[in-house]
Amino acid sequence: MPAMPDSPSYRGRFAPSPTGPLHFGSLTTALGSWLLARHAHGQWWVRVEDLDPPREIEGAAAGQLAALRAFGLHTDAPVESQSQRGALYQSAVDRLLDEGKAFLCQCSRSDLAAHDGIHHHCLGRGKRAGKAIRLRVPEGARISFVDGLQGSITQDLWRDVGDFVLKRSDGLWAYQLAVVVDDADQGMTDIVRGADLLDSTPRQILLQQALELTTPRYLHLPVITDAGGNKLSKSSAAIPVDALAPLPALHAAWRALGQTGLPGRAANDVASFLAIARTCFAPAQLPRSRSIPLAAVHNETDTNAV
Ligand code: GLU
Repeated sequence: MPAMPDSPSYRGRFAPSPTGPLHFGSLTTALGSWLLARHAHGQWWVRVEDLDPPREIEGAAAGQLAALRAFGLHTDAPVESQSQRGALYQSAVDRLLDEGKAFLCQCSRSDLAAHDGIHHHCLGRGKRAGKAIRLRVPEGARISFVDGLQGSITQDLWRDVGDFVLKRSDGLWAYQLAVVVDDADQGMTDIVRGADLLDSTPRQILLQQALELTTPRYLHLPVITDAGGNKLSKSSAAIPVDALAPLPALHAAWRALGQTGLPGRAANDVASFLAIARTCFAPAQLPRSRSIPLAAVHNETDTNAV
């Protein structure tokens, strides 16, 4: 993988999948990652994670990028799309195959059902036409890391995850592979994202170790949940944020990030809101929980805020 020409002390990113419009949960994550990057005098990049065409909605990527611009969250580098980066993923997988760290697999989901979906060795039925590529997870593989917000996390990858997919049997790249390759290739030092991805992080660290890549710092922000306790999601048509009236949503996202004391209540445009927010931002106040109910954010304000 080519070394980046510069080595920033902080480079973060927001990497939405184009499965629907930007909603309040994704705005909160975007604002949180932007504030942390600006607080560290670092860079903030946007990347489009369009790896899974069947789940994507036409025009969603352009809509999300336009919404981010309307919220004043401007990328510091040209936006890259994962759909254009297959050659990088292929060379990473080729290397893992050559080194015997990855293997071709014909096991289907139903083959693995009796093993809780966990793959430890091929079951030899080989009925399926397409072959997936999996990372071999050695017995006893455990990964521990300290998350910037959620504290110490340990996962027994062999017991709880097993050999995981890098390239699907239908030829699509798996998120775990693409995100690791892209974060390294783009020189990311700090991964700030929703806590729903906390469980994926040990897989990504194992993959970084297999590819001899540096592990970035991780910080997982709480996700915003609906009345049923489910994460607001782009694909479940959570109410999109109104890019035409961005200030109320920015104020609500600020509060969802545990932030108070914004002297610029008078800020009447997005640029001045963000200029004030970046100076008032207190990372120590970020909530150390994995989720926050949307109702809790609403209750602190009028319900039209988001
Ligand atoms: N593409 C993922 C999403 O939209 C985020 C992946 C990441 O930040 O690592 O939820």
